[in-house]
Amino acid sequence: MTWHVNLLTLFPEMFPGSLGQSLSGRALEKGAWSYKALNIRDFATDNHKTVDDTPFGGGAGMVMRADIIEKALLSLPKQGKKIYMSPRGKPLTQKKVIELTQQDTLTILCGRYEGVDQRLLEAHDFEEVSIGDYVLSGGEPAALIMMDACIRLLDGVMGNAHTPDEESFSNGLLEYPHYTKPDPWVDAQGQAHSVPEILKSGHHKNIAQWRLEQSEALTQKRRPDLLKK
Ligand code: SAM
Repeated sequence: MTWHVNLLTLFPEMFPGSLGQSLSGRALEKGAWSYKALNIRDFATDNHKTVDDTPFGGGAGMVMRADIIEKALLSLPKQGKKIYMSPRGKPLTQKKVIELTQQDTLTILCGRYEGVDQRLLEAHDFEEVSIGDYVLSGGEPAALIMMDACIRLLDGVMGNAHTPDEESFSNGLLEYPHYTKPDPWVDAQGQAHSVPEILKSGHHKNIAQWRLEQSEALTQKRRPDLLKK
């Protein structure tokens, strides 16, 4: 099954962007996912191709018009689950990412200016999703981040050796630390750094236990909020 994403944006050329490279780029070529980026401006009705207007009640900035966005939305043969990237939305989590990969089609609305007319979001049942407590200038980078997190989980994208269950957040913990060759590594100041002995012991059960303890300690130190969930 191909995981399909429709993007409603004023900057369709921002897609696939970084998703055209590396793992997600190969997955796009293989047909694991596909996308269609619609330019909302193509659905404007006046000669100036206007997509925004001043806010009722006054205030700075412009608001994207419901009628124009709706035309773009209704031109899609299949909308699937509708998401509006928004700093007001629920924070994106790995749980949400997994849920989104289980949909066959998503339609992602990328805002610009002050955002989108509220009536459009309510009339068409958009779910608002935030990528963090900061304000971007547009929803496109947020959509790329959310899609990246989803694409790597699609069937066959990362290969069989990969174990998403062990990654940060999947088991409610941050991931344990990783090490590779050389061992020891001598840094530019001449200081030698060794790999923890247990990882070279070949004792799989002890290694798994050590990694779990590392994960728990790191989570306790950096993200105790995850342990309360
Ligand atoms: N006036 C809005 C507010 O204060 O909530 C911010 C609008 S922002 C300048 C323009 C667009 O960027 C938003 O409509 C949204 O699509 C996107 N955006 C900004 N920050 C975001 C975030 N943290 N997560 C997801 N999308 C974001």
